[in-house]
Amino acid sequence: MLLTLTPPRDAAASSPATDLGYLLAKNPARVQSFDLGVGEAHVYYPEATPVRCTAALLLDLDPLALVKRARRQGRHDLLARYVNDRPYVASSFLSVALTRVFRSALAGQSRERPELAAAPQPFEATVTPLPCRGGEAFLRRLFEPLGYVVDAERVAPAAPYFRVTLRAEVRLADLLAHLYVLVPVLDDEKHYWVGSDEVDKLLAKGGAWLEAHPLREEIARRYLKRQGRLVREALARLTAGDDSADDTAGDAEEETLEKPLSLNQQRYGAVLAVLKSAGVSRVVDLGCGEGKLLRVLRGEPTFTRLVGVDVSPRALEVAARRLRLDDLPSSQRERLALMHGALTYVDARLAGFDAACLVEVIEHVDPPRLPDLAHVVFGAAAPRLVVVTPPNVEHTVRDERHAAGAHRHRDHRFEWTRAELRAWAEDVATRYGYGVRFAPIGPDDPEVGPPTQMAIFERAADGGAS
Ligand code: SAH
Repeated sequence: MLLTLTPPRDAAASSPATDLGYLLAKNPARVQSFDLGVGEAHVYYPEATPVRCTAALLLDLDPLALVKRARRQGRHDLLARYVNDRPYVASSFLSVALTRVFRSALAGQSRERPELAAAPQPFEATVTPLPCRGGEAFLRRLFEPLGYVVDAERVAPAAPYFRVTLRAEVRLADLLAHLYVLVPVLDDEKHYWVGSDEVDKLLAKGGAWLEAHPLREEIARRYLKRQGRLVREALARLTAGDDSADDTAGDAEEETLEKPLSLNQQRYGAVLAVLKSAGVSRVVDLGCGEGKLLRVLRGEPTFTRLVGVDVSPRALEVAARRLRLDDLPSSQRERLALMHGALTYVDARLAGFDAACLVEVIEHVDPPRLPDLAHVVFGAAAPRLVVVTPPNVEHTVRDERHAAGAHRHRDHRFEWTRAELRAWAEDVATRYGYGVRFAPIGPDDPEVGPPTQMAIFERAADGGAS
């Protein structure tokens, strides 16, 4: 993908067009390359004369490096990671490259031409291909209120990729900040995770103009990947005129590439949401493993009792360490505990909870023992709510490592299709007096469904034990 910057000049202009080199702190006579970790950014000047000068930023992302990075971050949908548009289109990687390559220009600094950096001047910027999710109309609604004349030409027949030219009289730093924020907003890649430092970045680059922008809410929502809490924080700080984030503008080199939201995080987030919306307070995590879900749940004060159960002493040791059980104040020891136990034997300690979670657990149980597990969980412990999340075997075709039909995990005793989960869950629900509904976790592929399935059982008001 390519970004070009041109300050149009007429013969009467007071400064030569090649002053752009001073503004960008990049010599027009040289080609320079920057390593982004997942590829390279190259800066060069296709044209550099006193009357016309164009600087080009070319991103050459390495598809394999992107896949390796996704794999390190625990993504399972690797086929989708190979076959996608990331290496080729303008996205948040462009924003990252801007902070690496044009750091001083973004900060409005120029050692040689400070007066030029401080003043609005005519600029023409072209980005191609730019994914415009929301179409050309949305593109215009983003840039026109900022004073740009927008020219958009579709470059792909079936996808919303455009060659976009923006013209305005603008400070170069503002132009770069607009691109920094609005390119990812247009791209609107959803399957990424953003942390609270993204709010600082958004306010640092958007503070001044974003507050006045008619689409500020939609911009914040898309930029922060629809993370409600972060969006609310950003909007509140914007309205409060909080510019404290400006102090961090100089730290832009700390920019980190966005991390894809790992399937695990999505899973725990989905389970947490179900538990919270059901208003439960005592939760038992059956097959808690190393306690990852418990670490998420313990942060929520609505849960008054959290217990993890696992058959593996080693997993429990790791969980105890990660949860720092030994350092807990005595008041917290009542709230958070681990127990050694097997889910295929009735255990009185499992009674008295409002909810039980089985996150990636049932597929570790031998199929002939599943009726025992169902009896232990739904018949004997019988909490009001049970959440079960097994993987969806149909989706494993999307994962190159499982192309040969192998299970995702060495210890998986079986893996179910969506229909198989449904059949098992509906049978168990009828047998023990529960209602059951299903929800996807992770991207829900139209053909093969999501990577993880979720069955949510709620005890019918008059059924089961209490
Ligand atoms: N829920 C955890 C761990 C999933 S791995 C997480 O999401 O990270 C499956 C876990 O189930 C393992 O820790 C394994 O020890 C446990 N497990 C498998 N069969 C079990 C059984 N019959 N009783 C109790 N735990 C069991």
